[in-house]
Amino acid sequence: MTNDRNERRLRFALIGGGPGSFIGGVHRIAAELDREIELVAGAFSSDADRSAQAGAAYRIDPARAYPDLATMLAAEAARPDGIDFVTIATPNHHHLPAARAALEAGIAVMSDKPATATLQEARDLADIVAGAAVPYALTYTYSGYPLVREARARIAAGEIGQVVKVIVEYSQGWLAGAVDSKQAAWRLDPGRAGAGGCIADIGVHAFHLAEFVTGLHVTQLLADLGSVVPGRTLDDDAQLLLRFDNGARGALLASQVMIGERNGLRLRIHGTRGGMDWRQETPNRLVIHHGDGRTEIVQAGDASLGSDAMAGLRTPGGHPEGYLEAFANLYRDFATLLRGGAAPLLPGISDGLRGMALIETAVHASREDSGWVHLIV
Ligand code: NAD
Repeated sequence: MTNDRNERRLRFALIGGGPGSFIGGVHRIAAELDREIELVAGAFSSDADRSAQAGAAYRIDPARAYPDLATMLAAEAARPDGIDFVTIATPNHHHLPAARAALEAGIAVMSDKPATATLQEARDLADIVAGAAVPYALTYTYSGYPLVREARARIAAGEIGQVVKVIVEYSQGWLAGAVDSKQAAWRLDPGRAGAGGCIADIGVHAFHLAEFVTGLHVTQLLADLGSVVPGRTLDDDAQLLLRFDNGARGALLASQVMIGERNGLRLRIHGTRGGMDWRQETPNRLVIHHGDGRTEIVQAGDASLGSDAMAGLRTPGGHPEGYLEAFANLYRDFATLLRGGAAPLLPGISDGLRGMALIETAVHASREDSGWVHLIV
């Protein structure tokens, strides 16, 4: 079934993405953007009727909207046109069982973040991935933005010198009070979200972005996490001081109680010869501060962009693109992997492990008031 993948669209199934869900539909759009991949099946919900309802909404063959993952994997394996991979878009506690079942059935996995609900689960998953014959990748969405990839390439080329300071912040306000929604319910429940609240939901994105762009690893952290809204057991507000493996210092702020903030992900990196500033809400601009005092604004579509950024753009300069296309870039990379090529920018299990280590280390260190601790993966 794999030998014809260069000649046809890749076929995928969604796990999650049922009625009223958030990110599953985004995966569907992003995966299909370039017409290299198509949604053909799914176990869209833990409820069979709701899975069928979602299948109808996605306009797939009703026979391929399955009541559960095990039924789907067995049925798809028996088809000559069965799925090439699954996308996992369920709450965090379901990531490991879903990934394990798919990988053990020889089906590649594109998983949403965080990799799992706990660090131990991520270690178990890493063992499974190491023994699997098919790829596993993670949708750390923000690494798919062209100008994020441009920043990474310029830092690797030495444009701002040695990195000395990294400030990454991810501010939201949607959990500033009691929220009655499907999305809030599991995110505030340790049984489904895992050890971390805000730190696992968005802090881990900020962490990955900082490491991805700088090419550095965090080695130590000092964490102060808390829940601002009474009654919450998981954090909704977090700040971390960071030390990186080249000696750089930094800070990570993640909060979901900052009223007025929408999706305020911002990354500032300063080096011995300059600095960079990228904001997710204006993703097609990268501000570069040069050591001689000049400030340069690099924009999507500029002729000066490097090959990683150019490859991720789909519209002419001045025509906005953003979140869906960034997601689609991760799917394009994943399709390349499935067709036997290389996708060095695509996050994988090692990034997943580091993210889970960050979450658990920060939660534990803050709770115990431990001061500086090592980040041990
Ligand atoms: P959601 O609650 O909106 O949707 C979850 C879906 O999973 C629902 O349709 C639910 O019915 C389904 N589901 C639950 N258990 C299932 C099971 N056993 N089998 C099949 N389906 C099942 O959640 P969401 O906001 O879409 O988040 C889902 C995941 O995506 C989370 O892990 C979250 O961290 C991640 N996420 C990532 C990004 C990103 O930027 N990459 C953004 C949002 C969410």
